[in-house]
Amino acid sequence: MSEIRFQVQGSAPSPYDVTFVNRGNGNLSAYCTCPAGENGQYCKHRFAILNGETKAIVSGNEHEVSVVVSWLAGSDIESALKDVAAAEIELERAKKEVSRLKKLLAQAMRS
Ligand SMILES: [Zn+2]
Repeated sequence: MSEIRFQVQGSAPSPYDVTFVNRGNGNLSAYCTCPAGENGQYCKHRFAILNGETKAIVSGNEHEVSVVVSWLAGSDIESALKDVAAAEIELERAKKEVSRLKKLLAQAMRS
């Protein structure tokens, strides 16, 4: 088991702790001490680090972000991130379709 911890400056005065635990066999865990993370909800702090972003890190170990990113490959979190990304693409497609249909509605209202 390997563990890497970062301190991340969020909206609160004191930084949040973001911890990644690689338990092997594709089991990666990610914890954050922000209010959303403490409630077991999605938060941007873990997502940003998994996305390779280092700008909010204040613990001086930005170089370890690449290690965490390498842990993603084949993990349960990678699979869940891909599902979210696919849903976001579908959402964008649906938004464009709603916009297109509203234009048709507006045309129907004028004719
Ligand atoms: Zn968080």
